[in-house]
Amino acid sequence: MTTGLTIALSKGRIYKETLPLLAHAGIVPKDDPETSRKLILDTNLDDVKLVIIRATDVPTYVQYGAADIGVAGKDVLMEHGGEGLYEPVDLQIAKCRLMTAGPVNAVHDESKRLIIATKFVNCARRYYAEQGKQVEIIKLYGSMELAPLVGLADRIVDLVDTGNTLKANGLEPMEHIADISSRLVVNKAAMKMKHERIKAFMVEIEQAVKERNA
Ligand code: AMP
Repeated sequence: MTTGLTIALSKGRIYKETLPLLAHAGIVPKDDPETSRKLILDTNLDDVKLVIIRATDVPTYVQYGAADIGVAGKDVLMEHGGEGLYEPVDLQIAKCRLMTAGPVNAVHDESKRLIIATKFVNCARRYYAEQGKQVEIIKLYGSMELAPLVGLADRIVDLVDTGNTLKANGLEPMEHIADISSRLVVNKAAMKMKHERIKAFMVEIEQAVKERNA
């Protein structure tokens, strides 16, 4: 393991909202992932690199130590399970809620099993098990809102921010499963081996979050 730092980020909202936090820690990328095709970005610090990957892959890269640090949504972390990771800082960005939703005013025949369409299969399974409800879960990769409209599922489990997407499709939010925001995650071995460096980085990031929210 080198002494440098590799930080895993996904493009889009998380990247944009993490940039000012990194700047507070003195880290400025040399390229913009929205325009560059590079997957490893150099920064102003020779030994700090950013790897640009899919949001759902961030916990895996950090778990296996391919990145020391990452930024991932709590939804992605709940779905992944969080093995091999510390989750030391809530960055309080990309906030939303993980919810169940279904057609407005739909009445479900309690004698039948609910069919749930979602990409959050582990979260959904855990949630309904906690409720003592037996459900059938269908894995989808996107546009969950469509599933109840075409009779594929009774309900969905999805992220809700304003609720506009649900509303536009004749659906309404039902049960609240979890509040979601992006978290800093750290590889457990890296936290030991590069303790001073990562601790200092975390302090800067925590301070940046506090200042932004002040
Ligand atoms: P809204 O219409 O504002 O409720 O947004 C819902 C849509 O945006 C759904 O398709 C969600 O999957 C997605 N979404 C909302 N918030 C987030 C977030 N923080 N991270 C990722 N996707 C989100």
